[in-house]
Amino acid sequence: MFKRTTFIFTVLVAYVVLQFLWWEILLVKQSDTIISLKQNIAALTTSDDEIILRDIADLQKKKTTRLYMIVGEGTVFLLILLYGVFQVRKSMRREKELASQKSNFILSVSHELKTPIAATKLQLQTLLKHELEREKQKELLQNALNETSRLHKLVDNVLMANQIENNNLTIQKEDLNLSKLIEETLSRYFSKQLEEHIITTKIEPNIHYSGDKELIPSIVINLIENAIKYSFETVCIDVVLKTQQQKPFLEIKDNGCGIPDDEKENIFHKFYRSGSEHTRKTKGTGIGLHIVKNICDLHGIHIKVLDHSPKGSIFQLRF
Ligand code: ADP
Repeated sequence: MFKRTTFIFTVLVAYVVLQFLWWEILLVKQSDTIISLKQNIAALTTSDDEIILRDIADLQKKKTTRLYMIVGEGTVFLLILLYGVFQVRKSMRREKELASQKSNFILSVSHELKTPIAATKLQLQTLLKHELEREKQKELLQNALNETSRLHKLVDNVLMANQIENNNLTIQKEDLNLSKLIEETLSRYFSKQLEEHIITTKIEPNIHYSGDKELIPSIVINLIENAIKYSFETVCIDVVLKTQQQKPFLEIKDNGCGIPDDEKENIFHKFYRSGSEHTRKTKGTGIGLHIVKNICDLHGIHIKVLDHSPKGSIFQLRF
């Protein structure tokens, strides 16, 4: 489809440019003929050589001025046309990119939906078929519950991305105890990682902020999930919340694969997934950081990503 459109577009542009050049040449030729005829008429209508020479020189000047005018206006027109063509080509390329990212997104979402559903089904079937000890039953139920939470988070993200797309994502601000909200979010979604000291926290108590109590946790969940996902060896995540210049300041540091400088801007774009091997190995949809950025923008939170030393990334949020 895109190939055909590009082909038709190129043929049309080539036709317009050639047609335009042809008209320019015709116009110059026509102007030359008119001037030559006028020069002949001038020579025929008077016998005074001085007057003839003066008229011919005047007409010659006119000829040069007209040539400059035609070429000048033609060049401006051509430049405007080429600028337009360049802009149309750019937006066509962007559309093409978006269409391919969308199709990748649908594939990833379907895959991500299937995995927890299949895992939950298997765990429930095992529980149903076998007489298991209480401990084992509890473990399977916990696993099924974790998979359901994963599914829940994914569906939440897809719905939120859709709201962003339709400009429907709004915030309801209220006074929040940010310290408590972040602590609760961590213990609700990352209790295992906290227990295993994969996540360490340094949270200054009673930091208040006026924000949306449903959306702020989404920022934390998405950033920590990424930190876990993109750390391939031993995972070590630090969550720091403190007051800086009388404003809340949140920092999430990981020691994962890091983000190259030329991708630091793009990672916040919709459906963007890094082309690195690390990213290709992990499951994802490319909407997490897009959602984070939009929630931050709605709140006026400034988000920044830096390199962590010796490796990894730091996401900083200035509220
Ligand atoms: P997803 O993780 O589903 O691909 P995101 O929007 O959450 O989508 O992230 C976009 C991209 O940014 C990821 O594909 C990954 O390449 C990169 N990225 C995000 N967070 C991290 C991180 N903590 N460390 C390294 N790369 C990251």
